[in-house]
Amino acid sequence: MDFGFTKEQEAFRLEVREYIKTEMPQKWETLGYTVWEETDESWAITQEWNRKLGAKGWLALTWPEEYGGLGRSPVDQLILDEEMAAAGTPTGVETMITIGWVCPTIMLFGTDEQKKKYLPPAARGELTFCLGYSEPDAGSDLAAVSTAAVEDGDTFVVNGQKVWTSIAHRADYCWLAARTDPDAPKHKGVSMFVVDMKSPGITVRPLINILGFHSFNEVFFDNVIIPKESLVGEKNNGWYQLAIALDFERSGVGGPARMKQVIDGLVQYCKETKRNGTPLWKDKGVQQELARLAVDAEVLRLLCYRITWLQINKKTPNYEASVTKVFGSELLDRLSNVGMRILGPYSQLDRGSKWAQLHGGITRSYLNSPSMGIGGGTSEIQRSIIAMRGLGLPRK
Ligand SMILES: Cc1cc2nc3c(=O)[nH]c(=O)nc-3n(C[C@H](O)[C@H](O)[C@H](O)COP(=O)(O)OP(=O)(O)OC[C@H]3O[C@@H](n4cnc5c(N)ncnc54)[C@H](O)[C@@H]3O)c2cc1C
Repeated sequence: MDFGFTKEQEAFRLEVREYIKTEMPQKWETLGYTVWEETDESWAITQEWNRKLGAKGWLALTWPEEYGGLGRSPVDQLILDEEMAAAGTPTGVETMITIGWVCPTIMLFGTDEQKKKYLPPAARGELTFCLGYSEPDAGSDLAAVSTAAVEDGDTFVVNGQKVWTSIAHRADYCWLAARTDPDAPKHKGVSMFVVDMKSPGITVRPLINILGFHSFNEVFFDNVIIPKESLVGEKNNGWYQLAIALDFERSGVGGPARMKQVIDGLVQYCKETKRNGTPLWKDKGVQQELARLAVDAEVLRLLCYRITWLQINKKTPNYEASVTKVFGSELLDRLSNVGMRILGPYSQLDRGSKWAQLHGGITRSYLNSPSMGIGGGTSEIQRSIIAMRGLGLPRK
């Protein structure tokens, strides 16, 4: 067993570190943006950063060169993610959705035309997707989607409603799960489509999240006509593609790596802050809390390394992705709670107050953390997957 990196990989790490040092937009740091942000300004900064990475082939590092990547290994991707997380580079959910989840699924199931149309611009940072999965009556039970796509000559006509659709107000395309056979058993009548968000008949309505940002939306499809070529993969066989896309979604290693950065920030805060004349980091209780977080962060790092190992061996992470997701989202809960206790009354203050600590990042993380155990499938659903696929326990 070797947890080390090769000379070439270490050289790549240094190259990334150097690049970030010179190229990272200063504004992101000065504004103290966190990964949870969603404003016009944060969007513009992340888009610009993505295009810069895209021009270097780093946005979709592991993709084949013909699609705008560099064909590099998942280990190089892990290194890039770790370094970007450590530096707090601009990032948003659009990169995970587009580069991490939707495009790899199109690479597996799309036609050559679809791959040519969507992958290279996505790798350049010029095209974004949103995810049209959840509906008012289909969340955990995603196979219950009722948004319908009815074949009509050379087109499909889409009617229905999606909800909690992150960045639908900004995305170019929707990766849509729709029912194409209402009479088939529910897992068998679903298909996947790429829908242009500018299509007539689409209405996007904002839902404001707990942080006060417009990140989610409701999306209504009212007789939206889409060309037949919008169908990705086989008609009525979309559930399989959806499951693969969800496995990609639960395998992300970039997000968890950013938690280490927050823990480091807390340690630094405890070093610099005195309470009743004594530096916080001399407090035994604080030491215990920080050490426990450090242990958990290390466990999460190793879980992420296992995901990378599976990818190197050309396996799609399955229940292992659920383990990583559930552990990562629960660690974020613990981290945010410890942060709130350490900051004490200052934890109530958001960025903008001159007394806010750590740019208000802990407050934001605390408010945001419950959502991490919901998006991409709730922790209860992840545990069910681990029980069934990991432990072989019965479904019913
Ligand atoms: C930050 C965030 C971003 C999101 N972005 C998107 C997006 O871009 N696109 C999109 O389509 N959706 C998105 N969602 C929606 C998300 O996928 C759903 O909220 C999630 O799948 C849960 O569905 P639900 O809200 O309908 O809850 P429900 O399915 O109604 O669940 C309610 C509760 O019941 C529990 N429960 C349900 N079924 C079971 C079961 N079988 N066993 C045990 N417990 C169960 C759940 O765990 C939960 O606690 C996002 C959500 C969040 C929080």
